[in-house]
Amino acid sequence: MYDVIVVGARCAGSPVAMLLARRGYRVLVVDRAHFPSDTVSTHLVHQAGLARLRDWGLLDRLRTTGVPPLRHMYFSNGDLEVGGFADPIEGITEVRCPRRTVLDALLVDAAREAGAEVLERCAVEDVLFTTDGRAGGIRARTADGVEREFQARFVVGADGVNSTVAEKVGATVYRTMPAAGFVYYSYFSGLDWDYQNRTRDEQQFATCRTHDDLTMLVVMRKKDAYRQFRADAEGSFQAVIDHVRPDLGADLRSGGRREEPFRALQYADNFYRQSHGPGWALVGDAGYHKDPLTARGITDAFVYAELLAEQLHRGLSGAAPIDDAVADYARRRDRDSIGVFTMTVALSALTLPPLFTAVLSAVRHSPRFQRRFFTMAGGGYPSEEFFDPRNLAELYDEVGTPPAERLLSAPAGSS
Ligand SMILES: Cc1cc2nc3c(=O)[nH]c(=O)nc-3n(C[C@H](O)[C@H](O)[C@H](O)COP(=O)(O)OP(=O)(O)OC[C@H]3O[C@@H](n4cnc5c(N)ncnc54)[C@H](O)[C@@H]3O)c2cc1C
Repeated sequence: MYDVIVVGARCAGSPVAMLLARRGYRVLVVDRAHFPSDTVSTHLVHQAGLARLRDWGLLDRLRTTGVPPLRHMYFSNGDLEVGGFADPIEGITEVRCPRRTVLDALLVDAAREAGAEVLERCAVEDVLFTTDGRAGGIRARTADGVEREFQARFVVGADGVNSTVAEKVGATVYRTMPAAGFVYYSYFSGLDWDYQNRTRDEQQFATCRTHDDLTMLVVMRKKDAYRQFRADAEGSFQAVIDHVRPDLGADLRSGGRREEPFRALQYADNFYRQSHGPGWALVGDAGYHKDPLTARGITDAFVYAELLAEQLHRGLSGAAPIDDAVADYARRRDRDSIGVFTMTVALSALTLPPLFTAVLSAVRHSPRFQRRFFTMAGGGYPSEEFFDPRNLAELYDEVGTPPAERLLSAPAGSS
């Protein structure tokens, strides 16, 4: 009998398993993947995420894998551009964009080193329940093709957007917001571009340097353009860069060489899922998913994995009833993540909402507020505080925004 079984071993699952195993609990973490394993996801990790890795003793290990630090960012929509970087967040002065083959394998190794039992190529098919209705284990098909049952005091679903655990425990979904877009991305040599996230006329690209001197280049468009885009993916991809930044489009055409196939994905809807119940919890994308535009999924998976592990420890150690402790985790996650969720959904339409236009028009004239803007993006300043009317009034005063342009909240009917 395990103390905890964790289903899913990537950004949310391995940290939960590692942190509990380090506290001495008997933990099993299973994944149907075999690591190192890629997944369709770009991989910018913000400062708040790197701070978790540092606290877990894993940041230096990541740094030695050769993923370069990034210390400048551009965000633009149309001709409105803000450039700069965050203040240090929990002492972290960089962001990094590690390949998921590297990052996820590092996390799995760390869970294993901590003493968690790791079963790869193990697909969970069902959640087992005790006679009093509590989750008490899993039924899974292991690498040898045999169906096995594993018992535990508690089951954690860290199994992503289409979580099997969520389905089997009947977790309800709330705050669903339809997904707006789709993505194509790949890895290029011959480019030396800073991190940037640029949009024009509902066409967007983002770029970030990663391992092996490669640049990850990502194109996003609204779903209605998907069919036409994929009819000529290569040409459509280039056309977006040409449209948004003709100079970079020319640079890509003349110097860039695509080194890997395109990855493509139509986004899943944005949602929250009920993330606690008798004997079970959900963490990472299984419990809360949003458009990748703000690149906060990995960072949030780390942050809330740590919170869940702490609350599970309270429960397992007898400091609090375990279901209450885990309910507290879910409450705090919902409270702390709603600002990022709302902002992400608003931006995912690829049209800058009027409030953002007013605010960014002012921000670009204030080095102090530029740093605050990028600190918010990096997870070091709550978006609710950034968009608080008092903060915005201070910004407008500092840069002398005319009264008619001082938008303090989203106009009725807009995001
Ligand atoms: C296109 C795209 C771009 C993104 N870009 C970024 C970015 O730049 N920065 C960022 O922070 N976030 C980004 N994200 C979000 C990020 O990928 C997720 O938030 C993050 O991967 C969530 O981690 P997770 O561990 O919760 O789930 P996942 O990474 O989805 O891992 C779930 C794991 O569960 C396993 N699993 C599922 N079902 C079962 C089962 N039945 N049995 C056994 N195992 C199972 C899977 O094999 C998988 O390994 C992006 C997402 C997408 C789609």
